[in-house]
Amino acid sequence: MTYIVRPGSTLALTAAELLDRHDADPMAGACARCGRPAPCPTAAYARQVLAVTPTPVDVLATTGA
Ligand SMILES: [Zn+2]
Repeated sequence: MTYIVRPGSTLALTAAELLDRHDADPMAGACARCGRPAPCPTAAYARQVLAVTPTPVDVLATTGA
């Protein structure tokens, strides 16, 4: 997998914070933060950013450390 977002960058941290605030259970119906149907666009976009951000586990796997 190709990662294009640097872990710990402002983009990665902001995406994680947004997802934490907008992560609603789809069964709940609506996001408690913005009121849009869950998963709301903010959560969906944040997930896309985090999908291309390596986790510490990924970094260990690629460096062999
Ligand atoms: Zn939301």
